[in-house]
Amino acid sequence: MNHQIIARETTLPPEILAALRENLHEQRLFRREQLQQLSAAPTARTTRTAATRARQSSSRLEVHVKLTASARMVLADVEAALERMDHGSYGSCHLCRGAIARERLMIVPQARYCARCQQVREAGR
Ligand SMILES: [Zn+2]
Repeated sequence: MNHQIIARETTLPPEILAALRENLHEQRLFRREQLQQLSAAPTARTTRTAATRARQSSSRLEVHVKLTASARMVLADVEAALERMDHGSYGSCHLCRGAIARERLMIVPQARYCARCQQVREAGR
C-alpha cells in the first residue's frame, strides 16, 4: 500500500466539507427565520391586560429574550464558520490550532474549538 499524502492530513475531504457547508447554510436559514419570527412575536402587546397576564407575559418575555439571544449566538457562530470555510481555515481549533475531529464537526459544524479546548474553556467559566 502506497498512500500518497498530497494535502495536509488535517484537511477535510471535499465531500465532507460540502456536506458541512450545506448543514451550515441550513442552520443559518433556520436561525434567520427563527429570529424573524421572534422579532415579529407580539410580546409587548400582551402586557396591556390584567396584572396576572402581565406576570405571565414577563416570564414569556424572559424566554423570548433568551431564545433570541441564543439564536443570535448560534447564527453568529454559523456565519463565522462559513467565513472560515471561505478562507480555508475551517476545521482547525482557534486555541491550539490542532484539527477538530471530523466526528465533532459532523455534530457541531460551527465548532470553533477542538473537544479538549472546549472542555478547558467550559471548565474555566
Ligand atoms: Zn484545541
